[in-house]
Amino acid sequence: MSWQDIIEARVSSTNRLSPEDAVILYSQAPLHALSRAANKVRKQMNGSKEVTYLIDRNINYTNICTINCQFCSFYRPPGHEETYTQTISEISERIQELENIEGVRILMQGGVNPELPIEYYTDLLKEITTRHPTIDIDCFSPIEIEGIADVTGLSTLAVLELLKEAGMHGLPGGGAEMLVDEVRKDISPKKGSPANWLKVMSEAQSLGLITSATNVIGFGEGPEQRVEHMHRVRELQDSSLAKHDIGFTSFIAWPVQLENNSYGRRNQGRNRFELGAGPSEYLRHIAISRLFFDNIPHIQASWPTMGIDVAQMALLGGADDAGSTMMEENVVSASGTDKLEASEKELQAIIIRAGFTPRRRNSRYDLLSTPEIGTKLSELACPPPSQI
Ligand code: SF4
Repeated sequence: MSWQDIIEARVSSTNRLSPEDAVILYSQAPLHALSRAANKVRKQMNGSKEVTYLIDRNINYTNICTINCQFCSFYRPPGHEETYTQTISEISERIQELENIEGVRILMQGGVNPELPIEYYTDLLKEITTRHPTIDIDCFSPIEIEGIADVTGLSTLAVLELLKEAGMHGLPGGGAEMLVDEVRKDISPKKGSPANWLKVMSEAQSLGLITSATNVIGFGEGPEQRVEHMHRVRELQDSSLAKHDIGFTSFIAWPVQLENNSYGRRNQGRNRFELGAGPSEYLRHIAISRLFFDNIPHIQASWPTMGIDVAQMALLGGADDAGSTMMEENVVSASGTDKLEASEKELQAIIIRAGFTPRRRNSRYDLLSTPEIGTKLSELACPPPSQI
């Protein structure tokens, strides 16, 4: 089929895009046609008026890590003078600050720290659910769960059961990057395999935990590899929905940040033009992901990595969610991006200026009552990226 026929079939019916179709779209379809088609599908799945956002806080509880991903500027190896691990009180103070601005969720992730016993995690979860009962705690990505399993000798499922019992609400989708064996071996040879990431997510979904799927592009991979990543995620989603009636809430993609890490340095001057992903490449990926994932309800636009203008274009080309305020983001910003934090007013301005109505949500994507912080469109200056 031609790319025109593939798009027509996808938009006019519930025809599922095959991996081969998706590769043809990547290779042949122009951006404007992809964005227009993805916008139609987004309207069919999520309506045309609202764009959701979340008030939350990132907490990076430890930066000690033994995995040494080449694209990561955040971690420090054990024994390094800049290592830290936060205490329950320090974390609780941060959550209190989030409560003060009506936040509803913390996203707590860190390195794979071999010095922490299982009690660090379970005591932390029990204490913060007692002190902050209205805050959802989404924490510990699959590679951290694997790390805890290694330290304790327990299975990853047993670790997840213990953490859920202690108060864990969901599992962030971090660490997926590119679920393609040859890419993962190149960028994170010590990280668990793509199959492991999918297995831990499947176990989390079997326990009813809230999960999302992420994807980092720009490692020099081709369309086939991007589609392989999406296909593996879609297959797991089919299986989890059939078995447990729960699956990934959303798909969140962004380009690798190269400024400040060994991956960027290693490739400096060599195939440099093939690394990273500019706005047009990112927008193509967002649009194709909306067309491909007929079983994942939400696609997120990434303002922190792409900037506001591109995120707004993503909202017009398949995405229906503007992500979160990201109070205290440390991992992506360690790679050299500008400060990654937006006020609720700024996020609302971004959404309104893109032509939508802002709507607060929680991590399950339940819609919440939303204050009208913005005034008239004409009075809303869209803040330049450098001020966010
Ligand atoms: S991305 Fe995560 S697992 Fe990889 S080095 Fe950084 S903190 Fe460790």
